Amino acid sequence: MPRAARQPDAPPPTRPRAGPPSRSRSQPRRDAALARRLEAWFRANRRDLPWRPSDPDAPRDPYRTLVSELMLQQTQAARVAERFGGFIARFPDVVALADADEQDVLALWSGLGYYRRARLLHAAARAVVEDHAARVPDEPEALRRLPGVGRYTAGAVASLAFGVRTPIVDANVARVLLRVEGRDTPPDDPETQKWIWQRSAALVERAASPSVFNEALMELGATVCTPRAPRCGSCPIKGQCHASAEGLQNHIPAPKARTTRRELFCDVARVEDARGRLLVERRTGGGMWDGLWQAPTLERDDRHSSPAEVRAAGVFEGAHQSGEFTHQTTHRVVRFRVWTGTARAGATHPRGEWKSRRAVEGLALSSPQRRILLGG
Ligand code: SF4
Repeated sequence: MPRAARQPDAPPPTRPRAGPPSRSRSQPRRDAALARRLEAWFRANRRDLPWRPSDPDAPRDPYRTLVSELMLQQTQAARVAERFGGFIARFPDVVALADADEQDVLALWSGLGYYRRARLLHAAARAVVEDHAARVPDEPEALRRLPGVGRYTAGAVASLAFGVRTPIVDANVARVLLRVEGRDTPPDDPETQKWIWQRSAALVERAASPSVFNEALMELGATVCTPRAPRCGSCPIKGQCHASAEGLQNHIPAPKARTTRRELFCDVARVEDARGRLLVERRTGGGMWDGLWQAPTLERDDRHSSPAEVRAAGVFEGAHQSGEFTHQTTHRVVRFRVWTGTARAGATHPRGEWKSRRAVEGLALSSPQRRILLGG
């Protein structure tokens, strides 16, 4: 009779199903073997992505690397792949980005979320132009002084674009290294973080190409050693992996303590006038989506606005609820309710502006507001 598969939330096995890989070989030799395997795997299996040159060993453009790394923070590669080409076409080099109007930068960032990154990238481009003669610096320490560039991004740009032998650690890398070593401490624990950076540094020291190795480590975490159901059968370093040998791959990393997201209730007035123009306003006052455009929106922390409260906004006739959906951000669960109507004759709005659909398409919009105003 076939054995039932172990459920993901079942306790980890108390006894290894197979012995872990031998630790008898010296650590540097083991690291060198692991690095070589990963590099070879990456050269043969990497995804074709618009910010990657066709040859994995070809030098990468530092500006494009900086842009792609900022975009990839907290955003999936598939989504970044949709936006990267348009952004680079509009801002082909660091000077073009530094000279751009912030609203144009935000508009080209639409759909990627976390708009603070767009502002930081814009500021970083200005710093590169003003402080580094329009050349992205190659030293991790100099990179870290740029707005929006932390230890991970500095390591990624320095290694990928300049071949600097420096480590990187993001969530993918952390997961792979914790699993390979069979270490089940929470990844955000300070001691664990320190250990992960040390392991990443030791491994890149042994790599033939720091650029290929670092990208291979991230790629393995993104495509094979995934958070759920890692594909150990297809993994190039399975033979060196303690978690896989001990059947612990679904239990490492140890789960983080859950954070509770706060709710926000948004009632949105999607209103068109007789000429088909849409009423939009700009968000102000800081906080989420600050500076982006939206349909007039009533927000509350405790509940949705009542129909009377929505109608009291006084911008449309025949207002009716036309849809609702939920949008999750890192810290918030945002519950949208959409009200649709036509403009009342002579309707005005204290902060609103009437814009054609084509003009709205070119505005910086959060993804839920884009969905409400333009559909899709
Ligand atoms: S063998 Fe499995 S758990 Fe280990 S690194 Fe590969 S995919 Fe991850």
